[in-house]
Amino acid sequence: MENYQELINKQQTFFRTGITKDTNFRIEALTKLKDLIQTHEHDIINAVKKDLNKPEIEAKRAEIGLVLGEIDFTLKNLTGWASAEEVQTPDTHRGAKSFIYPEPYGSILVIAPWNYPFQLAVAPLVGAIAAGNTAVLKPSELTPNTSRLLAGMINDHFQEEYLHVVEGEVETSTALLQENFDYIFFTGSTGVGKIVAEAAAKHLTPVTLELGGKSPTIVHSDADIDEAATRIARGKFANAGQTCVAPDYVLVHRDVKNELLEKLKGAIHASYGDDIIHNQDFGHIVSTRHFDRLKSFLDNGSIVTGGDSDRDNLVIEPTILDSISWEDPIMQDEIFGPILPIIEYEDTSEVIDQIVKRPKPLALYLFSENESLQDEILANISFGGGAINDTINHMTSHYLPFGGVGASGMGAYHGKASFDTFSHFKSILKR
Ligand code: NAD
Repeated sequence: MENYQELINKQQTFFRTGITKDTNFRIEALTKLKDLIQTHEHDIINAVKKDLNKPEIEAKRAEIGLVLGEIDFTLKNLTGWASAEEVQTPDTHRGAKSFIYPEPYGSILVIAPWNYPFQLAVAPLVGAIAAGNTAVLKPSELTPNTSRLLAGMINDHFQEEYLHVVEGEVETSTALLQENFDYIFFTGSTGVGKIVAEAAAKHLTPVTLELGGKSPTIVHSDADIDEAATRIARGKFANAGQTCVAPDYVLVHRDVKNELLEKLKGAIHASYGDDIIHNQDFGHIVSTRHFDRLKSFLDNGSIVTGGDSDRDNLVIEPTILDSISWEDPIMQDEIFGPILPIIEYEDTSEVIDQIVKRPKPLALYLFSENESLQDEILANISFGGGAINDTINHMTSHYLPFGGVGASGMGAYHGKASFDTFSHFKSILKR
């Protein structure tokens, strides 16, 4: 196993020079990163196409656009975020003043997954740079073209003691996790999140864990079913269902189930045509292991639409499964693929009972016009974040901190939350 101590020592020594704390240095680094992304736009599009058959439009929006948006928002606000803030002082401390000073943690480790292999590697880097840290990034080995591109982009243009990409598999993560970083930011599965948390505990290193889970989508009897079908299909089948906040399963009121099934079918074919297996703009499954795992779910319940697959090209058609029960294999773990199980309900209390019995989801979506039902769901179910009458778009707002809770993770980022995540807030009483 390789030893990364020398790299971490170099970064920690560089951090101690104080250079990375200079706000102008951070602004220059973010501007350089932005230029690099713009210069390499076609390389990024090609890499994610090779790795996941990601269509250009999705790559531009979800891999590149989102990160550029984060950089622009950060550049606009950084000076304010990085300044000390004066706060109130209680009467018992009369004569003193109180301040909160944001300071960078130091050296950061970012471990990234494969599903949005560019965005989920670089968006955390934006926060780490903005807060004034150094960083080591370990991209996913399952998307080797993007990993190689990231290594070239970062390692050829930034000094190793500031930002560095280390490519590799599990052994590389394991070796990196033995080092004494000042902060670890991990995106990936709940199982590996536990391994990361355990490794971090040995050094008492704080962590953000951006994990997954089964995100429910509830469609109530009063919902606008056209809108619900369109937005569920969009959120579920983008990137072939390999999105951490994709609707994992649908709970639909029995009065509107048939209508929803019909409209979901229509929405799928309107987006991807009738020969989806050969559609060049439909994403591929990342590996044969994931393909085989997903394919085994196709005999759960009954197929409403879809069900075809092509193992040679790692494609699974968008598939809707009806007559699913909570005990079916597909309902045990996060699906992370283009298969959508449907469970019908009669009473919303069943829905709440079933969801709260399970691990806290990363996202939840509710389609209903009824405000008291909206309040009831929000008040009674804990989940990372979500949307009412929409899917997945909460994660693309700079103003909404994005993260999980319980088994779906801890901590949050995006916008100001990214700066805060990578900063320690030092409280100072001054006489
Ligand atoms: P993963 O946990 O298998 O891998 C993530 C990273 O951890 C990779 O870089 C991998 O090399 C590394 N890794 C794998 N096994 C390891 C081990 N034993 N020790 C140390 N490091 C290890 O996750 P994945 O398959 O890449 O991603 C899919 C999962 O990530 C899904 O559960 C999904 O919901 C979740 N996810 C969450 C978010 C979020 O923002 N919350 C975003 C994307 C994906």
